[in-house]
Amino acid sequence: MELECAVQKYAWGVKGSKSSVAQLAKAVQPDLEVPDDEPFAELWMGTHSSGPSVIKATGETLGSYISKQPEVLGGPVIDKFGEQLPFLFKVLSVNQALSIQAHPNKNHAEQLHRERPDVYKDPNHKPEMAIALTPFQALCGFRTAQQIIKHFKELPELRKVVGEEAAEKFIEDHSEENLKTCFSAMMNSPKDIIASALSDQLQRFSEMDASKGGELLHDLFLTLHEKYPGDVGCFSIYLLNYLTLQPGEAMFLGPNVIHAYLLGDCIECMACSDNVVRAGLTPKYQDVETLVNMLEYGMVSAESRNFEGFKMDGYTTMYNPPVPDFAVDKIEVPAGVEQYTLRPMESASIVLVVEGSAGDVEVNPASLGEVPHATSLERGSVVFLAAGQSLALKPRPGSRLLAFRALCIL
Ligand SMILES: [Zn+2]
Repeated sequence: MELECAVQKYAWGVKGSKSSVAQLAKAVQPDLEVPDDEPFAELWMGTHSSGPSVIKATGETLGSYISKQPEVLGGPVIDKFGEQLPFLFKVLSVNQALSIQAHPNKNHAEQLHRERPDVYKDPNHKPEMAIALTPFQALCGFRTAQQIIKHFKELPELRKVVGEEAAEKFIEDHSEENLKTCFSAMMNSPKDIIASALSDQLQRFSEMDASKGGELLHDLFLTLHEKYPGDVGCFSIYLLNYLTLQPGEAMFLGPNVIHAYLLGDCIECMACSDNVVRAGLTPKYQDVETLVNMLEYGMVSAESRNFEGFKMDGYTTMYNPPVPDFAVDKIEVPAGVEQYTLRPMESASIVLVVEGSAGDVEVNPASLGEVPHATSLERGSVVFLAAGQSLALKPRPGSRLLAFRALCIL
C-alpha cells in the first residue's frame, strides 16, 4: 500500500532541490513545488498528527485506516502499544545545527507532561536512531575526560564560561558530578561573559596558525557562531563528542543522552513522541535546568557511540536498539540480483526506497481490504506493509536498490 508523506520545512533544512527530503518527495509527488529558497528539512512517514501520511490510492490517512483495521499492526504491537503505530520514521536533510537536546525517559516524560503540558505535549519517551545517508555530523554524549581536560587547558575562553574554579576541580578529579557542575555553569553563564569569551576566542582563532586550529575545532566553532552568534552552545563542542557517521553507520540516542545534529542527511526512526528538552543552538524554548538535571554524564569516546547493525542475510542489516518501539532494516541489493523478498514481520512496517527501483512487486498475502498494492517501487516510494505480509521485488537492472524499513521487534 503506497503512502504519500508530509514534508516539514523547518528553517535548518537543506534548501530546494539539493535536499534529499525534497528529492525523495518530489520523485513520487511530481506536483510538489520545490523553490530554491525553501528549506526541506524532514519527510515524515507514519501517523503523527503533525504530519500524517496518506494512502495514495484513497486519500485516507494511514492513522484512520489503522484505526478501522488495527489487526494490520500485528497482535504483539496491539498488546504492547494499543491500536496505534508505535514509531515515526523520517528522512532528515540538515543544513545547520539543530538544538542541543536530550529526550526524557518514560517516567520523566510522564512527569514533565503532567507538570507542563504546554511545553511537553505528550507523556511518551522518545528514543531515536539515526542512520547516515551522507557523511552525517553530530554532537553526541560527553567526550572522554582526557579530551575535556585538554580543552580546559588550551582554551582560556572555555574556562571563562565554565568558571576557573569548576574547571580546576574537574582537572583534579574528573568525576561525573564535577562534569555536571562544569556543564551547568557553562549553560547558565551570564550573557555578557559568553559574549566576551566568544569574541576573545574568535580573535585568538584569527591569529592562530591553521594546523593548531583543526585540533581546537576552529571551523566547527566558526560555523556554529555564524548561525548562532552569542550562543553558549558554540562552546559545547569542547565537552561533547563531535562525530561524523559514514553512510550506513548508525547512532542510537537513548534517554538522557545529550546530542545535536549538525550537517548531512540521515534516516531517523523514533518512538511516536515530541518530547525534546532543549538548551542552546536554537531559537526555540530552552529548558536549561531540566536538561542539566536529566543528563547522563558518562564520558565515552566518539567511536563507542557508533551503533552496530546485525546482518540478517546477504542484503539486510537490522539496527535493533534496546527499546521495543522500533527497529530499522537497511536493505541493500546490489545490481544484478534478480529478486529479493522482504521477510514478513510480526509487526506492521514502513518501507522507503532511497535508491534504485523495482518492478513486479508481489505482496503476500495480497489483500489489505480494498486498497490495491503498489506494482512497482521507484526512488522515493513509501509503502506500508501489514504484519505478516512479505514483499517480493525484482530490482531493475543497472543500479543497486537501497531501501530502509521501520518495524518493531517484540
Ligand atoms: Zn533528538
